[in-house]
Amino acid sequence: MKRFFSLFLLLLLLLCSGCSAPTVGDTGTFNEFFAMDTIMRVTVHGDAGEPAASAAREEIERLEKLLSRTLPDSQVSQLNAHAGEEDAVALEGDLISLLTFARSLSADLDDALDITIAPVMDAWGFTTDHHQIPTQAQLDALLPLVDCQALEIDPQAGTARLPNVGMAVDLGAVAKGFAAGRAESVIRAAGADSALLDLGRNITAIGVKPTGEPWRVAVQDPQDSNLYLGVLALTDQTCSTSGGYERYFEEDGVVYHHIIDPSTGYPAHSGLLSVTVVSPDALLADALSTALFVAGPERALDYWRREGGFELILCGEDGVVTATEGLEDAFAFQGEDGGYTYEIARR
Ligand code: ADP
Ligand code: MG
Repeated sequence: MKRFFSLFLLLLLLLCSGCSAPTVGDTGTFNEFFAMDTIMRVTVHGDAGEPAASAAREEIERLEKLLSRTLPDSQVSQLNAHAGEEDAVALEGDLISLLTFARSLSADLDDALDITIAPVMDAWGFTTDHHQIPTQAQLDALLPLVDCQALEIDPQAGTARLPNVGMAVDLGAVAKGFAAGRAESVIRAAGADSALLDLGRNITAIGVKPTGEPWRVAVQDPQDSNLYLGVLALTDQTCSTSGGYERYFEEDGVVYHHIIDPSTGYPAHSGLLSVTVVSPDALLADALSTALFVAGPERALDYWRREGGFELILCGEDGVVTATEGLEDAFAFQGEDGGYTYEIARR
């Protein structure tokens, strides 16, 4: 019994790195690589496993070259380099559609998400990892540049333009979700229907495990990486988690993390420690996890009540974990160890 318990704990620990990759009965093709500033793991089962996993990796690497703002040759870097110029920049259809999606979601969410946050990210040193606290005067000068509604997009011409010098796009909040959605399509097109993608806190479950059961993904306790809030059963869904605990620095005992409230220029403090979004749409899951972390619990639940297509697990600073009712069966709450209580939110 004791040995069984240790094995169980080990399996849970393996499951627990953010939302993490499975190991139980895993015989498929496993591909691990570094892209988009994180470790990615692609596991594909079945006869098409190997070509499907390779194709997924190639697709993710192709998208990184397109969407990164730290690679000087990427199209995002070109868009940023021409900010304030008269002529719009020709961009690939993938990038045009991602920019359009992000701009429109931002409008729906009162600017909690803003992909033109780049100048403020730079001021905090998150881009280079040379962290610093910007002065209020610096932030006051930069905040007018954070305005994704000003981003001009012409889908017919396939061009976009940042109207002011100093404006820049940062797709950190959405790129991994976009890549997950594309990788999912590539895997299915290759003939595979059982796979798990772990693109750094964005976990996409394709089909079911070879055993026929749903994929099981642990949701990490944002205050203790050895604990977890619970386990999600997922089939043809992505779970994406955002929190202030993944990338941050500390100064004079204060933690400054990498999800910025575009209305203040400061790390978001909305009463949430983490937000997990579950959706069949990987891009939506990634975008909303960041946006709703900024928006806070009330606005997040209002938005959920208004919109369809996703479910939430909110971990509040008050120690309450709230899952929306669509996850009532799929989420097994286990956060008692971390001192959390559990509630279900209803429509
Ligand atoms: P991660 O990519 O670390 O898993 P997220 O998906 O939540 O987490 O994205 C965080 C990233 O999004 C930041 O590193 C930054 O690049 C960008 N970002 C931060 N704040 C915002 C914001 N309010 N709107 C849009 N993008 C943001
Ligand atoms: Mg995100």
